[in-house]
Amino acid sequence: MQESPAERERIFNVAPEEDLLYSISADGKRKIMHPIVHEGRFWKVRRAIAYGLFVTFFALPLISMGGAPAILLDLATRRFHIFGGTFHPTDNLLLAAFGLGVIVTVFFVGSTFGRMWCGYACPQTVYLEFLFRPIEAFLEGGPLKQKKLNAAPWSGRKAAIKVAKWTIWTVIALLMASTFVAYFVGWGPLLRGLSTEPLAWKGALFAIAFVTAAIVFDFGWFRDQMCTIACPYGRLQNVMADQDTILVAYDQQRGDPKVKVKDRVGGVPAGDCIACRSCVNACPTGTDIRRGLQPECIGTAQCIDACEVVMIGQGKPIGLIKYTSEREQKGGVRRIWRPRNIAYLALLTIAWGTLAVLVLTRGDALVEVVRGGREPYRLLPNGQVANQQRMRFTNQLGETQSFTVEVLAPAGASLVVGDSPVVVEPSRLVTVNAVTTVPQSVFVDGQIPVRYLVKSDKGFRKEVEFLLLGPYGPAPGKP
Ligand code: SF4
Ligand code: SF4
Repeated sequence: MQESPAERERIFNVAPEEDLLYSISADGKRKIMHPIVHEGRFWKVRRAIAYGLFVTFFALPLISMGGAPAILLDLATRRFHIFGGTFHPTDNLLLAAFGLGVIVTVFFVGSTFGRMWCGYACPQTVYLEFLFRPIEAFLEGGPLKQKKLNAAPWSGRKAAIKVAKWTIWTVIALLMASTFVAYFVGWGPLLRGLSTEPLAWKGALFAIAFVTAAIVFDFGWFRDQMCTIACPYGRLQNVMADQDTILVAYDQQRGDPKVKVKDRVGGVPAGDCIACRSCVNACPTGTDIRRGLQPECIGTAQCIDACEVVMIGQGKPIGLIKYTSEREQKGGVRRIWRPRNIAYLALLTIAWGTLAVLVLTRGDALVEVVRGGREPYRLLPNGQVANQQRMRFTNQLGETQSFTVEVLAPAGASLVVGDSPVVVEPSRLVTVNAVTTVPQSVFVDGQIPVRYLVKSDKGFRKEVEFLLLGPYGPAPGKP
């Protein structure tokens, strides 16, 4: 027996439809979104950005720069090739500047542009709206035809369309997943490895299979729920946004009361909104933007494009739904620059500027001297003091370098390097043992700085300092 709505509310205490998530109906079932897109001015900008991002993603591991792919994050050898430069985990200052730059940029973009990142550049929106949905529309027809097909009983035609759609999606997801893995191993080794000894590439195979499944699940089924339920950025947005953050909003003063065209008779009070729901039907998350700012709005501007078509059709000015800010909505003037985003901008300039300076002034090699052995120093029978060390040479050039090291100070110091010259291949790191010996008499309070000159056959020269340890007190035979 079917209960009446009042009875259902009494039994299940079901909230009214408008108090629920847009993607869930009152009976708890998932509402599948089929946005009716209007190819307006914002949609065209988003499409151009999306195509640019697709090309960038697929091209970067294919373009060669300095003998390696433009981006290769080689975790196995712990070398990161980025636009012709090779970086190592020891580049910790660079890494810190990069991390700070990313974090502050997220805060700056979030506080200034709101959720424009989600609508224009987030891979979730970009791939769903400009790749996976268009394929669906190509095979199944527009949103209304898609709904009809889903509701229709299974037939040969429906099965063929669905199989074709999921197969094409899977092939695209496979290509995306393989490209993703190529960022870590390179296309060349990946293809060679998978074609000649696939069992030795189990890790890569698993990663490709896992990422493919995740992509198909996300873009084929999970879709808008990633933004409205799973993604933390939307929640973080509440913290980052202020009165001047850009947002998409409905002009309530101008639009209300919302009256359908057919009901506009006899001087009934009516705003510019004709209650056509074009904006709601265009929204990929099903948000009714006329109800105010909501976390489900991911800033796609598809409602703006939709409403502009309606307003033009009605002979009214566009802008009933538009980019604005909370301050503007209250009648004020939006402040582009305010202390919060000026501070973010200053910080991000410092972070990215530091990164740029560090990259541009990076030497041809990195030389580090660290303490080696189990004891801080050894007192030799001849009265000398020996310190064991480990010397690390990182070749940051694209050709092999041979390094030699000599001691400049203090007087009487001598150095023995385990391997000399130290030959280091391009983008490689080699560590060798070394022992520095100095007379006991040179120590002051158990310490003495030593200065080395490191040279390479490719013209690299660098002075490196290190603190030698020795005994406290006067040397034997001295007062
Ligand atoms: S598209 Fe414009 S006119 Fe139509 S319901 Fe939305 S706000 Fe109102
Ligand atoms: S409400 Fe408008 S801007 Fe927000 S997600 Fe929906 S269509 Fe995009």
